[in-house]
Amino acid sequence: MSWVAIIPDTGSARCRYHDNARRSPARRTFESVSTPMHVMVLGAGVTGITTAWYLLQAGHEVTVLERREDVGLETSFANGGQISVSHPEPWSSPAAPLIALRSLGKPDAPLRFRFGTDWQRYVWAVSFLRECLPGRHRNNAERIARLALRSVRALRQLREQSGIEYDHCAGGILHLLRDPAALSGAGRRVQQLAEWGIRATLMKPSECCALEPALARAPDLLGAILAPDDESGDAHRFTQALASLFAGRGGRLLTGHDILGLVREGTRITQVLATAEQGSTRALQADAFVVCLGVGSARLLAPLGLRLPIYPVKGYSITVPIVDPARVTTVSLTDETRRLVCSRFGDRLRLAGTADIDGYDKRIDPRRIASLRAWIDAFFPGATDLASAEAWAGLRPCTPSYAPLIGASGIDGLWLNTGHGSLGWTLACGSAETLMEQINART
Ligand SMILES: Cc1cc2nc3c(=O)[nH]c(=O)nc-3n(C[C@H](O)[C@H](O)[C@H](O)COP(=O)(O)OP(=O)(O)OC[C@H]3O[C@@H](n4cnc5c(N)ncnc54)[C@H](O)[C@@H]3O)c2cc1C
Repeated sequence: MSWVAIIPDTGSARCRYHDNARRSPARRTFESVSTPMHVMVLGAGVTGITTAWYLLQAGHEVTVLERREDVGLETSFANGGQISVSHPEPWSSPAAPLIALRSLGKPDAPLRFRFGTDWQRYVWAVSFLRECLPGRHRNNAERIARLALRSVRALRQLREQSGIEYDHCAGGILHLLRDPAALSGAGRRVQQLAEWGIRATLMKPSECCALEPALARAPDLLGAILAPDDESGDAHRFTQALASLFAGRGGRLLTGHDILGLVREGTRITQVLATAEQGSTRALQADAFVVCLGVGSARLLAPLGLRLPIYPVKGYSITVPIVDPARVTTVSLTDETRRLVCSRFGDRLRLAGTADIDGYDKRIDPRRIASLRAWIDAFFPGATDLASAEAWAGLRPCTPSYAPLIGASGIDGLWLNTGHGSLGWTLACGSAETLMEQINART
């Protein structure tokens, strides 16, 4: 069976939230499902935990299974922190093949493709090239934009409803334009975003500095696009806080469980096999299973004949303590030229980006880290403690179209919410809400 990325059309989707009469938005509640089920969510990254939360809120009994000792320790651990509705354009764009060609052999290129022995890499790369066709790119971007818009609304509701804290900043995202090509295309981009219903404004360098004085020393700044409705926040903190709320409201979280496979009886998935920390194998039953395993999703489902087009694209981040808060940005930034994103979490600054197509290898390339440190030094000289920088690498679960896989898998009892690529934090709440509605509609 072959797959295309699926996002249901969320444009007309009915929201399951409803206001309790004359109560504040903070008191919104969910509509309970009429036939509650036991749903097992596989994977406890930001996608798995939000999925579990929405299902629990809808009245289901929910268990989460996770291999690691805690939640949010893989790709959701130290990402760029942006809720970036204003960047729905997938990396598979008409410009991507040329960018990839130019980057061959350059160790500091934003995108690096390494030749390897696994054939999945080449199959994925060919599909990626197909998604670069202008029509496909436009269609993918539009669908991601719709889901992102829904997602940021859902995140705000969740925040108001739960009071969850995760160093969030609702100050928008400033997309820095540092080369003439980016500047000349900026007007068109703002117009395109407006067509998708995303607010954005073009700004001169002086206006950028008035908004964010810490940009006074930003090198080569030609202008910026401000997306005022975007946000940022620490995805790992969010995942941990939401997992605590989930457990506090009766959700079951089983960490230290390495999922080995799914058991199919007839046409239905009925059990999952997992190794617990002590090495014993457990068979766990449920009415439905949701795969939220990030880059582990494709491997788990291959024995069932499901070929998910998800391949890892490695990215890096550094997190540095801030020593002079006044000289460090509070607004989240995207450097469009270097393809880096920068977010502030209280007294920490995170810079993240780059894309290495290099299999499942999570080792850290010191050259990538050196160039991230150099960026922070150039933008905010002396304002952070670079010597204490924490370096991290994570694997984005990318589909060739960059659109996630959300919905029924084609096998009874098995659902997908995975493949969120470079926007998993942005899309988490909207994806979880969408999947919850689909499961409820089926039950
Ligand atoms: C450098 C970088 C910067 C990024 N910046 C941003 C950003 O600014 N904004 C944004 O929206 N997105 C960003 N992303 C993307 C985002 O981080 C991911 O899309 C998101 O974290 C994916 O979440 P997930 O829950 O699907 O996967 P994960 O967080 O990887 O969670 C999957 C979970 O499944 C578990 N698992 C896997 N296999 C098994 C198994 N067999 N048994 C048990 N458990 C298993 C894993 O341990 C893991 O906990 C960035 C990514 C990177 C790498």
